[in-house]
Amino acid sequence: MMNTPLTMTQMINRAEIFFPKKEVVSRTESRTQRFTYKEIANRTKRLAASLEGLGVKRGDKVGTMAWNHHRHLEAYFAIPCSGAVLHTINIRLSPQHIVYIINHAKDKVLLIDADIVPLIEKCQDQLRTVEAFVIMTDDDELPETSLSPVYHYEKLLENADSEYAYPDDLDENAAAGMCYTSATTGNPKGVVYSHRAIVLHSMAIGMADSAAVSEQDVAMPVVPMFHVNAWGLPFAAVWFGTTLVMPGPYFTPKLLAEMIQQERVTITAGVPTIWLGLLKELEENTYDMSSLRGVLCGGAAAPKGLIRAFEEKHKIPFMHAYGMTETSPLVVISTLKSYQKELSYEEQLDIKAKQGVLVPGLEMKIMGSKGEVAWDGKEMGELCLRGPWIASEYYDDERTADSFRDGWLHTGDVVSVDGEGFMKIVDRTKDLIKSGGEWISSVDLENTLMAHEAVFEAAVIGVPHEQWQERPLAYVVLKDPYKGKISQEELLEFLKPQFAKWWIPDDVIFIDDIPKSSVGKFLKRELRDMQQKQLSN
Ligand code: ADP
Repeated sequence: MMNTPLTMTQMINRAEIFFPKKEVVSRTESRTQRFTYKEIANRTKRLAASLEGLGVKRGDKVGTMAWNHHRHLEAYFAIPCSGAVLHTINIRLSPQHIVYIINHAKDKVLLIDADIVPLIEKCQDQLRTVEAFVIMTDDDELPETSLSPVYHYEKLLENADSEYAYPDDLDENAAAGMCYTSATTGNPKGVVYSHRAIVLHSMAIGMADSAAVSEQDVAMPVVPMFHVNAWGLPFAAVWFGTTLVMPGPYFTPKLLAEMIQQERVTITAGVPTIWLGLLKELEENTYDMSSLRGVLCGGAAAPKGLIRAFEEKHKIPFMHAYGMTETSPLVVISTLKSYQKELSYEEQLDIKAKQGVLVPGLEMKIMGSKGEVAWDGKEMGELCLRGPWIASEYYDDERTADSFRDGWLHTGDVVSVDGEGFMKIVDRTKDLIKSGGEWISSVDLENTLMAHEAVFEAAVIGVPHEQWQERPLAYVVLKDPYKGKISQEELLEFLKPQFAKWWIPDDVIFIDDIPKSSVGKFLKRELRDMQQKQLSN
């Protein structure tokens, strides 16, 4: 067979040739615009030509600091298809980490949304490699800025050559993208994606038993484009000619609901906190959500109560999935097998609340302290992965040796796998609670608490204990109507029939908000710090 290279150029070319009329709906700081793929493909070429004009060469890193919109999408293709490396930077990280990431990646040019400019101005002096800043704005003029040299995105495109041709000799193993993931301690760790990995991962997203993204869909990635490439959705959507809806900056649950209704979105993707917010909105106001065929949820465990509310109350199918920055990210997805659809809804729900079955193309093994563990739904161990869209190292980082051993990625996630091959995340290694020599899953306790009608959000941490080593402590945010009306004891009583006695948290603390990470996950480190401070006071 021919050994043709799997490069991203074919993706944007396919959209231009086969789907010129299909649309990208893009919300930016000031308005919502519509572009056809013909226009997007043309603008993408102009951007590639402009970047070359700014001195970007093959292998150079170009950083983006931007929300989900059409310009970011253009960068997603212009940068890798011209042979450079698309470095999506998480704008919600601390300035110190942002500086580290830009310097470590050696970004040559930064493409920045106008509202991010003040953040970069503050750390400009510490950026060692950046030679040009390009501001993505709807305004005709650049905002007042101390950044220099600085360019206006639209003006660059206006003056660029649309006859530009992407190089046709790109290596499929060359770097196409890169993304940094937060580390438990120390600086973020970089993962580099090859063209080949992105192409194969996009195919995986399109498979019928996975997310089945296709031309028929209207896809709205809510997960930010700086969080593992919006889980690869923009790449796949362009390749397949899928209509894309980009929700832009500072969206609210109300805005998401409106966009789904207006644009007839069929599939959308985000972390559980986004869907908890949308659910609240759907409970307060009426929208037509009938176009949705799937809400893809990953990044943290989806509580059963959330899945049930979407499916039973709102008739919106829920798709639970798992992945990480190191895995491009899709690893497993919870699609029921044909014969499981005959089970009762409660039994189906038990399966859907698991993260799912490995997508074709990857391999996994579960390692306990004495070797591989049984797939019986009970034994647990660390999930190890390998495959063509799994990273083989951290970029220029000594911590590579901790996670990449013997040809496998050691994920740091503790899981069990049942006899049907459905994987369940028990916890992150660092969040597991060790009590009296036994493990307690914080995730299980949280998900059960969140199934209580009064609970909006719940996070459980382990706190040091003299006799038991650690004991679970629950932090709970109550839904507004229940505030002051429900006690800690009632919640603990609710847990008791569902868990062994020693699993029940020692206490429940009511708070207004659970601290969240830069990508909307519960930040348990901050809860542990809060708890430590309380102890020392
Ligand atoms: P960060 O470490 O910054 O959160 P990632 O976004 O790469 O970076 O997070 C990957 C981690 O998120 C996984 O290792 C796992 O612990 C968690 N995760 C992802 N999806 C799920 C899921 N469906 N259920 C539970 N945990 C998940």
